[in-house]
Amino acid sequence: MKLLQDKHILIVGIASRLSIAAGIAEAMARAGARLSFSYQNAKLRSRTEEIALRCGATPDDCFACDVGEDQQIEALFHALKEKYQHLDGFVHSVGYAPQDQLHGDFTAATTRTGFRIAHDISAYSFIALAKAAVPILREGANLLTLTYYGSQKTLPNYNVMGLAKASLEAAVRYLAVSLGGRGIRVNAISAGPIRTLAASGIGDFRKMLKYNALRAPLKKNVTIQEVGNAATFLASDMASGITGEILFVDAGFNLTAMSGEEVAGAPSS
Ligand code: NAD
Repeated sequence: MKLLQDKHILIVGIASRLSIAAGIAEAMARAGARLSFSYQNAKLRSRTEEIALRCGATPDDCFACDVGEDQQIEALFHALKEKYQHLDGFVHSVGYAPQDQLHGDFTAATTRTGFRIAHDISAYSFIALAKAAVPILREGANLLTLTYYGSQKTLPNYNVMGLAKASLEAAVRYLAVSLGGRGIRVNAISAGPIRTLAASGIGDFRKMLKYNALRAPLKKNVTIQEVGNAATFLASDMASGITGEILFVDAGFNLTAMSGEEVAGAPSS
């Protein structure tokens, strides 16, 4: 039996074939999951439908939903309930901060509006989806979100997104406690940097990819397929004892404070 046989999972956050959500959807489909999809707006509909078809779903399994709008979230889950009755979880692969927040000095760049939008779309939306999903979630369901190490450590240009990811990770823990009694698990994957549309908005991202691969113990950057495989495990009953967890899929980057190359390349006096 395949790992996700008989599981029905909603995928939120496809913008292109490079999206982490696309890698997760394809891995979950290979593992036998039935998938539904939601896309942010009409512009992303055809790209999402294309991935849906590759995953054994159809355009009828794709729904519009801007996660910044409660009415759209309500309408999404109403439609999902009508069509499928229940779900075994969702993948929240959504993040956003206005472009001007992701360049330059943190103190100078961060604004009240930028802070509000980053936290609303990147952190609160996970809670909003969980709230709306609860009535149709089956026991054993897993809610998964995507985070980044910038929640714990600083790096250039990530700025207010680091704060939003810290909030998202705290939400994983609070939701895990809140929903654990219903047998619902809540987890996050902290992925290493991957070239996607969202990532290209972060200043110096290409340089960061190079630096990351040099310092990571596995000497490489991770792929959306590797994130997809870990997400498949977390969604499966093999992970039935895991909740509230932030699982690093980052080639080990987070455990290093310095690399041999950095030390060797530092001036000796
Ligand atoms: P992406 O651009 O492919 O995906 C981001 C998605 O967020 C898009 O599909 C976009 O439509 C969606 N989104 C933004 N605002 C929305 C809204 N209001 N309503 C509905 N959807 C909305 O980029 P990605 O890198 O695949 O990002 C997915 C997640 O992974 C994000 O949370 C990101 O922070 C996280 N992540 C990315 C990296 C990386 O280096 N790419 C690393 C760690 C974590």
